[in-house]
Amino acid sequence: MRLFRCACHSGLSYLRAPADAGGSSLPRSGGPVDASVLADLAAASRILADQGVVDAFGHVSMRHPNDPNRFLMSRSLAPALVTPDDIMEYDLDCECVDPRGRGSFLERFIHGEIFRARPDVMAVAHSHSPNVIPFGLVDKPMQAMFHNAAFIARGVPVFDINAKFGDTDMLVGNAEKGVALAQSLGDKDVVLMRAHGSVATGPSLPVAVFRAVYTEMNARLQFQASMLGGGGPIAALSPGEGKLADLVNLGSASRAWDLWKRRVGY
Ligand code: MN
Repeated sequence: MRLFRCACHSGLSYLRAPADAGGSSLPRSGGPVDASVLADLAAASRILADQGVVDAFGHVSMRHPNDPNRFLMSRSLAPALVTPDDIMEYDLDCECVDPRGRGSFLERFIHGEIFRARPDVMAVAHSHSPNVIPFGLVDKPMQAMFHNAAFIARGVPVFDINAKFGDTDMLVGNAEKGVALAQSLGDKDVVLMRAHGSVATGPSLPVAVFRAVYTEMNARLQFQASMLGGGGPIAALSPGEGKLADLVNLGSASRAWDLWKRRVGY
């Protein structure tokens, strides 16, 4: 292995390229990444922990800025502990470019197959955030309770791993399961996973984090609204309201990002 480019002098990361063309089965690197990108991805991981979206489990990834067929993701680690040094690079088959003995998340196929299926998606967050889980278990579609959760008005599908794979350990631990999950997501922004959790996506890292945070908050609010209203109809955002409000959110997600980043010391 050789350093692709010196990190200390260039400000670029030390994501590495395989040493030689012959003999190595490791995928080629998409190239060096600015250190600020790695810091942002580490911050995203810590933000999701700080905001109560992930605990010891869950992960966030982003597409490689210079190669749409590569993505960046932490080694297998509790999200609140992730640093820029823990970020690794993968191809869309979820093969690590430079593992160096570091462990990968079992469910990295969630990310690789969504990046493959959805060229518009630049970041993916997977969590088991607790208020969301009931909506994957009962026949009550998630609805957008307020403007920050406007993306939910486009619809939130539920991925039932049992439908195609029968009894499993519930984890999206291979490419085939990742493909099925990406198919359930379709053209939406969020997909629930029955008896497991959810996945939020976005056209940027801040927006994917924003959607993960507000999916969890929306679930709590919808449960409260449902209780308050005795299970009757809820005056949720219409698809038209959702579309208009989401446009505003896409422009203002950076305000939340700046605040949440500071909270985790980045
Ligand atoms: Mn999971």
